Amino acid sequence: MGVKDIVRSNPGGVISRAYYLAEKAHAGQKRKTGEAYFNHALATADILLSWRLDEASVAAGLLHDTVEDTPLTLAEIEKEFGAEIAFLVDGVTKLGRIKYRGAENVENAGVKVENLRKMIFAISEDLRVVFIKLADRLHNMRTLAALPPPKQKRIALETNEIYAPIAYRLGMQNLAGELNDLAFPYLHPQEYKWLKTNVREEYEDREKYLHQIKPILVKALKVNGLVPLAIDFRAKRMSSLYYKLLRHDMDINKIYDLVAMRIIVNNVSECYAALGIIHHLWPPLPGRIKDYIAMPKPNGYRSLHTTVIGPQEKFVEIQIRTKQMHEENEYGIAAHWLYQQKKSGGLDKSIFKRIAEELHWVRQLREWQSQMNVNSEDFIQAMKIDFFKDRIFVITPKGDVIDLPAGATPVDFAYHIHTEVGNTCVGARVNNAFVPLDHELRSGDVVEIITQKNKMPSEDWLKFVKTSIARNHIREALRARGKRLKAKIEPSRAELRLVVKDRPGLIKDISTIISRSHVNIVSFQASNPHGGKFPVNKIEIATTNREKIEKLILKLKKLKEVQEIGYQLV
Ligand code: MN
Repeated sequence: MGVKDIVRSNPGGVISRAYYLAEKAHAGQKRKTGEAYFNHALATADILLSWRLDEASVAAGLLHDTVEDTPLTLAEIEKEFGAEIAFLVDGVTKLGRIKYRGAENVENAGVKVENLRKMIFAISEDLRVVFIKLADRLHNMRTLAALPPPKQKRIALETNEIYAPIAYRLGMQNLAGELNDLAFPYLHPQEYKWLKTNVREEYEDREKYLHQIKPILVKALKVNGLVPLAIDFRAKRMSSLYYKLLRHDMDINKIYDLVAMRIIVNNVSECYAALGIIHHLWPPLPGRIKDYIAMPKPNGYRSLHTTVIGPQEKFVEIQIRTKQMHEENEYGIAAHWLYQQKKSGGLDKSIFKRIAEELHWVRQLREWQSQMNVNSEDFIQAMKIDFFKDRIFVITPKGDVIDLPAGATPVDFAYHIHTEVGNTCVGARVNNAFVPLDHELRSGDVVEIITQKNKMPSEDWLKFVKTSIARNHIREALRARGKRLKAKIEPSRAELRLVVKDRPGLIKDISTIISRSHVNIVSFQASNPHGGKFPVNKIEIATTNREKIEKLILKLKKLKEVQEIGYQLV
């Protein structure tokens, strides 16, 4: 049901009155797409309705651009609709005032921060203002093709840097993902083209495979008395796939969750029951079981994740959750509100304020605001750190924004730019001041790397880098130089070498033995140098405990026709 249906069925209601007033106010105005401007207001309101927001939000969504772009005044809106709707329209209007130009230089990074700050205060005042702003942006992104390219880029960048992180923080991962995906082709046109041509086939293959194995799973669940509410497939989003590929040498075979299977069940105990049944059916890939029910993500995301070795020894990511978890994961706080409302059996508007109060980061920001001068650098720093708790955003001298984990150093940054920049990096400047290479970067820093030809990375870097990209490239470079790393670096893993007669199901059997020993597999590589019946299996495992490894080897020796087995710490 859409806004138009409501207007038809209840012509005298608040939403209908807002509809007609907005339509009249925007009369004659056209969007860049050529359609009537009012269509944008209507689309925004429809999005709010689909998030199941209340009447006031939908009405304010219809009116959200009237004060800014038409002769209609806020006083008139208040007279017609009352203080609540006027407050929401005013909040959205105020949020839109600052024009974002992208973090091309330090001053603009300041603009970004200013925008974020406004958003966060709006959240703590009334979450609905931000929902309306997000719905407005979602529709603008869906129709971005009509704008001239420089504007597209600016809006896409702002969406990626401000709106998507806020949606994510509010637990609306689906919205955050859609915003990132809509922005992606404008920000990375080449990469987008590459992905479209290179991923489609693989994607279709995997989906076909999931369709094949679904009946097996349904049967196994049924035998154990479990009938799921739904099983569907969720394709990984283009933008997140791209960033994941960057971390995996652009190797699509390493992306297990390109298409994941999603199982919706009735309650929490069924989630765990289903997980058990699945692991009985197909062995889990060790180290890939994630219990976000017992330990939800900081933004509230809850689900069980596992990767199993399915038929034909293919990896499958499976996500298990209840219907409520699913809706909360999709709609975040909006869904929370819905469930609260259902529980209390009525409409309780103060819920938006209460939810905002419960959000830790919003509370923290309010406290900081009361303690510090709002415009002080300290406040801005503190806000940025809290907002992107485990991620930082730093800026290249050219104005590209680089996303790194918290605690990242100039060396991480350098490898993120390019392997060669990392390998030949000799120094760094942060905000125009020289810093040591192990300096901890902070959000908003402008980072410049100084390189020198023919330089090689230092082993010491391994002690402070935070990203695996940097760590792997450093190791690789050091190995290439023929340096014996082992002598100087504490081993963190062991490599098993197992020569055993090849047969169907062998890899599965090996993984099962290892996982039952509670050892995580880091990598698994089988090679067949002489084309014979005895491939060499190299398995990197995440332990250096010799006793544990030797016990494991005893178990592996029981496999049929083992030729050779050994290990070394690496
Ligand atoms: Mn708008």
